[in-house]
Amino acid sequence: MLPPESLCAHFGYLFAVRVVYRRGGKSDVMRTTRANVETVETEHHEVIVIGAGVGGIYALYRLRELGVDVKVIEAGDDFGGTWYWNRYPGCRFDSESYTYGFSFSKELLDEWHWTERFSPQPETLRYLQHVVEKFDLRGGMQFNTRLERATWREDSQTWFLEVGEGRTMSCNMLLPAIGLLSAPTPPRYEGMDDFGGESFHTYYWPKEPINFEGLRVAVVGTGATGVQIIPAIAPLVGSLHVFQRRPNWCAPLKNARISEEEMADIRSRYDEIFARCAETPGGFIHGPDDRSFFDVNREDRLEFWEWLYDQPGFGIWLANFREVLMDEEANAEFSEFVANKIRERVTDPVTAEKLIPKDHGFGVQRVPMETNYFEAYNRDNVHLVDISEQPIERIVPEGIQTTEATYEFDLIIYATGFDAITGAFDRIDIIGSDGRRLRDVWNSGPRTYLGVQVEGFPNFVMLAGPQGASVSTNFPRAIETSVDWATGLVAYMRENGLRRIECTAEAQDAWVTEVEQLYGMVLLRNARGWFTGYNSNVDGHDVKRHMIYNGGAPRYRRRLESAVADGYAGFVLT
Ligand code: NAP
Repeated sequence: MLPPESLCAHFGYLFAVRVVYRRGGKSDVMRTTRANVETVETEHHEVIVIGAGVGGIYALYRLRELGVDVKVIEAGDDFGGTWYWNRYPGCRFDSESYTYGFSFSKELLDEWHWTERFSPQPETLRYLQHVVEKFDLRGGMQFNTRLERATWREDSQTWFLEVGEGRTMSCNMLLPAIGLLSAPTPPRYEGMDDFGGESFHTYYWPKEPINFEGLRVAVVGTGATGVQIIPAIAPLVGSLHVFQRRPNWCAPLKNARISEEEMADIRSRYDEIFARCAETPGGFIHGPDDRSFFDVNREDRLEFWEWLYDQPGFGIWLANFREVLMDEEANAEFSEFVANKIRERVTDPVTAEKLIPKDHGFGVQRVPMETNYFEAYNRDNVHLVDISEQPIERIVPEGIQTTEATYEFDLIIYATGFDAITGAFDRIDIIGSDGRRLRDVWNSGPRTYLGVQVEGFPNFVMLAGPQGASVSTNFPRAIETSVDWATGLVAYMRENGLRRIECTAEAQDAWVTEVEQLYGMVLLRNARGWFTGYNSNVDGHDVKRHMIYNGGAPRYRRRLESAVADGYAGFVLT
């Protein structure tokens, strides 16, 4: 535990602290400073959830249902998380919409109409607004409250939270639901502040609509975000230059409207749909083909792949032969199939070759799903700048300067991704029972038990933590698992008069070993993307990290359930 002096130092003056906790209410804190005596209030709750996105909203619902005194704190000025921040054109799910909604309320399922197979961001935000209003959750959320520091206090067995502007809160249990892609990482080019036009990272897309007419636009980055924006704005802008460092394997999304009749059919099948999601490794409706790649002849393989390429959603990635993601030979053959599709769709053969990944096979990195992405490069106003050949040297007032030319722009869009999964944790000062900071503990990669806890950080239960399945599978399906597990734990502790939970070092070591071994079984071990923790815009993130659980959602769920069945095996509860 931190000595009181450390906290005093943070506030910039010396004081003594006396805290009286009252469940569900406020605690009075008397600070005696050298110069004056002041009383401030530390708001105490049994549970504080950090983040009002999909996970935080569901956690609030569940905890309220249990009668727990809970508050959700949120840095933004409204709820929605990912769907609040990412407002860029083309932003939408690549989960089937009807597998993305919450499953806990039949009434909610029956009344909501998803209008598209893959819902666009504004509709998803409207959905979350509907959920929050329907279950009267807004009052349980506190906005514009960014957690800066959380310190575990062993004497009171509480977390003490500093949430900016001298405001403090405390809780018995801290549940971070801070998102896995919520720490945006713009590039670190020299001169970015000197740019004369407008520029921003996609996560900070302005709320006001942009009039693209005649604009000279640059998009830097061709991950899932860039691949959605590029075809969405290509017809609207004056000119569009795409700065690509490495191409990604992309596949058609095949979005379409959902009619009233189709939606009625979906509603009648929700039980079946969620049961299907529960049995597939990714938590989607798509599960791997039962046949072995090696048992199917080449002609039949090609026919199967033609069919998959035409299907909506992640089927091409997740309903393929298992070997495509596990065996080099199978992966190479399928990658060539997709490469030929790109060659067919892009008119200029030189551009087509630049858009085909050469350093990794299909599906070992997160597959961006696209709508007319490759066709965008057939437009006269769209230009691909391969920055593996002509690196960006700096941003200049008029635009982007590469080793070969200076390109002039009115708007630069940085679609350069996120410090994924651990980045949002690293941005908070989280100080555990022995005074260690979580970001230091995870300095060379995360270590967790079941993706939910970290040794040395009692009563800190992550709803979408590294090395768990919620960060690697259909998010809402997995977050329901995590929230149900965490809220079940809260209920268990209340019923049994327990105040403290911490995983053991042994259980954590064993889990980390399992996570590492699972990486060894899949080709994504070779990926240089966020599944392996790479990010050129973050210091130290140029080595492989074991970020996600590759054992699939059903197995992960069983592991969580069996820990509970065995009396919270691997945890010490006191
Ligand atoms: P990303 O997949 O990490 O892609 C970032 C892109 O920016 C890559 O092309 C990367 O190139 C490039 N880049 C990064 N730093 C750069 C630099 N300094 N200079 C030049 N290029 C740079 O990020 P994202 O596209 O935002 O997607 C992140 C994740 O968000 C996705 O994988 C997905 O899980 C989620 N997402 C989901 C949806 C959806 O549901 N439809 C949509 C968007 C995003 P390198 O490859 O060379 O590093």
